Amino acid sequence: MSTRRIRVAAPTRRIWVASATAAVLTLGLLAPSGSSTAAPPDTAAPAAGPSVKLAAGETALVRFRLPDEAMLRDLVAGGADVAARPRTTLGQVQVDLVVTDQELAALTARGAVATQLIQTATEGSARVAASRQAARTLAVNTDTLQFLQSYWWTADGQSFLAVQVATTATDDPDVEITVTWKTADGTTGSFPLSRFEDSGEYQYHVALPQPVPAQPVTVTASSSLGGTTRAIRPTAWPGATPPPLPAGYQKDFIAAYLTPTDIQARIKRLKRQYPALVDVIDLPDKTQGYRRTAAAYLGNTADAAVVVESVKFGDQKMNGVQVKSVNPGKKNKPLNATYKDRVLTVSLATDAAGTAISTTDDVAAFVKARYPQEFNAFVEDGSAGKLMPVAGPARLDDGLDGTEVSKKPWTVQAMRLGSVRDGSKIGVLAYSQEHAREWATPLVTMEFAERLLANYATDAETRSLLDNVDVFVLPVVNPDGANYAFNDYNFQRKNLVNHCTGASRDPARANSWGVDVNRNYTVGSYFDGYVGGSANCLSGTYSGTSELSEAESRNVIALAESHPNIKFAMNVHSYGGYFMWPPGSYKADGRITLPRPSIEESAYFMESAKRIIGAIRSSRGTVTWPSYTGPVADVLYSAAGNSADQLYYELGILAWDFEVGNDLWNAETQEWEGVGFQPPYDEAHAESQEYASGLVELVRVARDLAAEGAVQP
Ligand SMILES: [Zn+2]
Repeated sequence: MSTRRIRVAAPTRRIWVASATAAVLTLGLLAPSGSSTAAPPDTAAPAAGPSVKLAAGETALVRFRLPDEAMLRDLVAGGADVAARPRTTLGQVQVDLVVTDQELAALTARGAVATQLIQTATEGSARVAASRQAARTLAVNTDTLQFLQSYWWTADGQSFLAVQVATTATDDPDVEITVTWKTADGTTGSFPLSRFEDSGEYQYHVALPQPVPAQPVTVTASSSLGGTTRAIRPTAWPGATPPPLPAGYQKDFIAAYLTPTDIQARIKRLKRQYPALVDVIDLPDKTQGYRRTAAAYLGNTADAAVVVESVKFGDQKMNGVQVKSVNPGKKNKPLNATYKDRVLTVSLATDAAGTAISTTDDVAAFVKARYPQEFNAFVEDGSAGKLMPVAGPARLDDGLDGTEVSKKPWTVQAMRLGSVRDGSKIGVLAYSQEHAREWATPLVTMEFAERLLANYATDAETRSLLDNVDVFVLPVVNPDGANYAFNDYNFQRKNLVNHCTGASRDPARANSWGVDVNRNYTVGSYFDGYVGGSANCLSGTYSGTSELSEAESRNVIALAESHPNIKFAMNVHSYGGYFMWPPGSYKADGRITLPRPSIEESAYFMESAKRIIGAIRSSRGTVTWPSYTGPVADVLYSAAGNSADQLYYELGILAWDFEVGNDLWNAETQEWEGVGFQPPYDEAHAESQEYASGLVELVRVARDLAAEGAVQP
């Protein structure tokens, strides 16, 4: 295996050896061995170089100083193995020759001075072996580290450092990586990173942004396996600031949390106030509305009960309907039921002694079969096969507590803002509250819309934006879920459509029903085998019965499809402080993501993101972390069937996602603290202001890219 490396001079050498005796004899080079060497008389150089000795029979590569060029010519003519180009300086010739011990002695006798033993022939083989051993040792014991990110920024007077480091020892879960920073005044410190895996695959090592006393001028990383990086200089993040706002710029149009009803009213008001700049678009698919079927437990859930549920919604005269079970008071009666005057009476079967003998299963099946247009009925979980008690009356109720909310199917509305709304200008779509509980998000989009409208008349920059960009704002994608979140269950994420069957329809599960609107789209969906959606109707990420099964998701796509000039979109969510773009999902096996954007598009995404993050920062100093800026699938999680992926992959829209509500730095505890979906209003207000600035910057990005010709309406 090592012959390839050690045959260096062998072929030529054999020729020389074969002819060497003749050659040197002819030239009289050979002299008796053991004769003394002498420096050439015409040089002042040292009498001899380091003493070069070869063992008997040894061959080596040796550097010689020859007394004159004639000797070199003799050697070449004699077929000597001249290993490198000879150099002549001041009449002296330096030449590297492969020689045997005998040839060395002969040359020395002729006045050549051996100045360096470069290597013996056998050393070659030894060095191959040594190099391989060293490589093996290195691979086992050390790794190579690389900084994927190294950024710093200052917020509220506190500097932070954020890094990501990758090790080549990807499969070793025990590798510990430490980052050491240094500031300009020589202060240093260090902190550990944690291994980050996603879907079972190593991504990198990372830590939350770390407080540092000042701008770090260098960072290095070292690993427990011995790997180290060279010192690098962290980059300022995001490195972009928006143009300053002019004097008199109007903002802060948000005074409180806004329900879907509030937002509907405000959209109406804005249309009235700015008729030349606003269209209101009624989206095609009405939602179910703030409605549910009405249900009641007949019996006692601790013992035996059947759930009786209306087929129609509660507000369709089914709330308040009563249901009861009775013993008919006669022997050997079959199971029966009557429904009149809004009372469903179940007459239980009796035996020869007049004892009621119907089971819960009997009753549920009977009611459902007898009144398919009016009632659904099923055995409560845990009551299967039990004897049905005499019970009731129980009142059916839809469980909805909101009294100020319309019960009609909801018309979802978008605003179209701009002075030219004919499709000839580049379009930007901002949409929010796909997820019901994310209450700060419509505040962001409403503040954004109102800033553009209010400043159009007085601010030249705003005028330029609305003259050159067609802005679509859809503040509440999921109004029914939002109404439920405001009135019934604050943490409602999904819509109000209940696709559950059987015991999952138990009203005890009411807060788990609904479809995750942002898992109901067509690209990279659960139905396509991607990660992050669910077939379980009770899951927080339930994907629906099929792609686009829900009015809410169909509306978003309908809006984008009917306005093909839309080339940018921002899907506003909360919370966590993320700034993301496609791909938004992957398949678990191999963590295969949807296709990555091209290098050019990735650069657009990143450069635009930095501008927008700079604008967000301009409000109160909030800095979205570099580690939270990137493709959804990389920085957050796989979200199968999300809207941004459909907009991007199917409609060619540069589609981003915000997670507003960045973690806040607690200087006392030195910890980052989460803000949640429904923070105290002051925090939600601050989020609306800073992220509205981000959306305005997105419009500026769109205008600028359109002006450059990089995107066309
Ligand atoms: Zn969300």
